[in-house]
Amino acid sequence: MTDLLSKFDGLIAEREALLGSGVRDPFAIVMDEVKSPTEAVINGKDTILVGTYNYMGMTFDPDVIAAGEDALKRFGAGTTGSRVLNGTYQTHKEVEDALREFYGTEHAMVFSTGYQANLGMVATLAGRGDYVVLDADSHASIYDGCAMGNADIVRFRHNSVEDLSKRLGRLPPEANKLVVLEGVYSMLGDIAPLKEMVAAAKAHPNVMILVDEAHGMGFFGEHGRGVYEAAGVEADIDFVVGTFSKSVGTVGGFCVSNHPKFEILRLVCRPYTFTASLPPAVMACAATSIRKLMHSHNKRQHLWENTRQLHGGLTAAGFTLATKTPESAIIAVLMPDQESTARMWSALIDLGVYVNMARPPATPAGIYLLRCSICAEHTSEQIATIIERFAAAAKVTGLPLDA
Ligand code: PMP
Repeated sequence: MTDLLSKFDGLIAEREALLGSGVRDPFAIVMDEVKSPTEAVINGKDTILVGTYNYMGMTFDPDVIAAGEDALKRFGAGTTGSRVLNGTYQTHKEVEDALREFYGTEHAMVFSTGYQANLGMVATLAGRGDYVVLDADSHASIYDGCAMGNADIVRFRHNSVEDLSKRLGRLPPEANKLVVLEGVYSMLGDIAPLKEMVAAAKAHPNVMILVDEAHGMGFFGEHGRGVYEAAGVEADIDFVVGTFSKSVGTVGGFCVSNHPKFEILRLVCRPYTFTASLPPAVMACAATSIRKLMHSHNKRQHLWENTRQLHGGLTAAGFTLATKTPESAIIAVLMPDQESTARMWSALIDLGVYVNMARPPATPAGIYLLRCSICAEHTSEQIATIIERFAAAAKVTGLPLDA
């Protein structure tokens, strides 16, 4: 007997075999208590968190929490409506004002998640007869935006300026094209050569560029706008998409732009229009956090110090990392296969360290990772402990290291 769920039998069997070997389920972690941006209680044990996207540690910022509490009391628990009907409160306008100031743009549009921001922007901007040209390692939300829209889709090899240029050169000159790039690619933690990619893209006619700065906001570039700011290509980027679920420390997504017709998107972008807006307390947290991120130079500096310490320490301990140098606040440890990744992940949890386990389809084909993402609030002692525990977990699981 088969039914609609039979297509998942292979995955179910694979998971059962893995869990049958005695490892914990890496996709069913429960945070019993969260003590700070870097510490939680998991399975009753004090655990260092190095697998969250809380890059700037804003989740427990006292001003952010106070703003959220105040808005909760003043505006209630939720809006119960779409942004275009009853769901735009003063708090939503405040976030959009804060974003316009942070990014120095004319327009800002807040979505309920970053996933919906990519989904909506890609599907709405590029329609029938248009082209979306995207990096092969793009985030799922960008691929899903392509699937939802009616444009033709062209992929280029990850971070290859040459392949981007070649593929754009094959498209009809008169057709409109949306090139979609990411500042930081979140699986391997590598950054895009945006200066070269933008120059290559803009050498072709009728090209607009959207860059997803989900993992770059807060600590790349002079104002923390992202990799595109650090690369000096702000004037050539038409749309920046981002999220509040990483450096901002809450939830939500956005797109900022200087395009004079941008505001019409509020009426035609279905993942914006046909869903409830975020609760006012979340918006108050986001607005306060974004404004504080404008002046977080010390935190940024500490985040980079932590990143260098973890990258250097894991390399010295013999782990193989996805990037030779620390390019972003994501340090991905390359693992040989799913089984050893799950065993290492499980050993790390037993030792009190939480990292992300990542596997296809989140990662490129055949790549298994233990992904560390670093927080500005980690102390250098915590980073040293994480490195020690990685080495201890490798010993327990018999993972060969390049010592
Ligand atoms: N873009 C990228 C590159 C991401 O990594 C993510 C989330 N991991 C998103 C978009 C979606 O963000 P959100 O969590 O706000 O849905």
